[in-house]
Amino acid sequence: MTIETSDGNNDVATFYNGTGTVPLAGKLRSMWGGNLHLGYWHDTDDDTPPDVATERLTDLVITCLEPKPGQRLLDIGCGVGKPATRLLTTHPVQVVGITISEAQVDQARARAADSGLADRARFEHADAMLMPFPDASFDGAWALESMFHMPDRAQVLAETSRVLRGQSRLAITDFVLRTPLGTAGKAVVDRMCATFGIHSISTLDEYVEQLGAHDFAVTNVRDISDNVLRTGILLADAMESVREQLVANGNATEVDAMINATREFATTAEFGYVIISAVRN
Ligand code: SAH
Repeated sequence: MTIETSDGNNDVATFYNGTGTVPLAGKLRSMWGGNLHLGYWHDTDDDTPPDVATERLTDLVITCLEPKPGQRLLDIGCGVGKPATRLLTTHPVQVVGITISEAQVDQARARAADSGLADRARFEHADAMLMPFPDASFDGAWALESMFHMPDRAQVLAETSRVLRGQSRLAITDFVLRTPLGTAGKAVVDRMCATFGIHSISTLDEYVEQLGAHDFAVTNVRDISDNVLRTGILLADAMESVREQLVANGNATEVDAMINATREFATTAEFGYVIISAVRN
């Protein structure tokens, strides 16, 4: 089952440019230390703070990529460049990051410059469904929590396949539907999609099949739902604590819907989260 919720992604750009009615991205950024993705905790006793737990998830993705010195790697949906900066700090590679948000391009460039990495980092405003790159021009790619925003995942995979050289590695983290959706589960997923600009979500089997159809052999899948779900609770608590500020900038109904959807993410078994490793044939 695949849910397509929109044929455009203007709302995603608005969300990340911080010009939406609820300026969540800015709040997220300050809490999560620049990473716009979930944290990873080993177990319920693990009390690692979110800014460290989010770096852990970046590191898991980097491990899947197996970066080699001198490689040119593509960051699909690069956010404000925090994961790219971490990769560049730990590996002698080059990174090109793309984002649908113009504001993020400037922020990512500034971050790379501040870290002394500008000579190996490039960030561009581009749509992953229409990548402005020649065929076979990258040695690897990753999409850390960005695929679900893309209205046409098949098109993104076709583009990713086109710009990667043979034997390149691809690492993806994404939400998946873990079990058939009951009425209550469907309502939660619909609310999550509306709140967080999720335009495509499917079962893992459908994901793997779609990757195969675009010349990617899946080498490993890890369901890390239980390791990341605490993010929903922490984020909902954090939003609750600044609710008045959020309401002052937005509107109460929208803010409360966002807080509730965030909390529900952590408690809805149908909603899972995976890391997929694949190799381009
Ligand atoms: N990977 C980053 C950001 C995750 S947030 C991190 O983990 O910190 C999702 C990112 O996907 C945002 O940067 C958003 O602009 C980007 N994105 C969403 N749809 C996109 C599209 N169609 N093309 C390019 N980037 C897109």
